[in-house]
Amino acid sequence: MKHRGVVQLANSLWDLAVGRRCLTCDRVGPPWCDRCLRSVVDIHTRQTPGGARVVAAARYSGSVRTAVVAYKEHGHLALAVPLGRLLAGALAPGRPSAFGARTAIVPIPSTRAATRMRGNDHACRLARQAGALSGVSAVKALRWASPISDQAGLSASERRLNVAGAMVAKPPRATSSVALVVDDIMTTGATLDEGTRALTSAGWVVASVSVVAGVDDRRALAPRDPLR
Ligand SMILES: [Zn+2]
Repeated sequence: MKHRGVVQLANSLWDLAVGRRCLTCDRVGPPWCDRCLRSVVDIHTRQTPGGARVVAAARYSGSVRTAVVAYKEHGHLALAVPLGRLLAGALAPGRPSAFGARTAIVPIPSTRAATRMRGNDHACRLARQAGALSGVSAVKALRWASPISDQAGLSASERRLNVAGAMVAKPPRATSSVALVVDDIMTTGATLDEGTRALTSAGWVVASVSVVAGVDDRRALAPRDPLR
């Protein structure tokens, strides 16, 4: 697994040192140019099975899907910057002053198995990017307390059962007790509900739940997408 981490690092350094073409328009420059990034913004709301309102910055299709898969599965870590920009736009659309002093961005963590396999925790990296743009600290308050089965092929209700009670949260601190929960994509929303439950049980106030992209068609998911 170390080898995979080395490959990811090499990809990332290559991205930074040489630059690449925009994944959408193929112009030489950043991996996702400003114009193409802006064209995918489609801020909309969704609902989890538990009734939480989720703000998504875009739809999980086309170049958004390409970027998420390249970032998560192929180690193109430079894409954390544009993906983090999308996520920041979904934190409190049109209301940047909504963040209080005790607010923290809390990412849904990858499972230990997924982090080992990919060599990094992609959601935490996105949370830090979005936080830097929004002036809000990212806090790794959540962790998986028990292993979960791969969510691939599970129905919405099976997913909910699979993750129920599987996360725990650190108790809030005086400096951060209001959570803006974030993740990269929302499929059924079961994991977002579980993260919200764990945070609330630990004493956090969950002010919002935001994702980079919402999945309309689960057939668009890459084979390993469901693995956190
Ligand atoms: Zn472009």
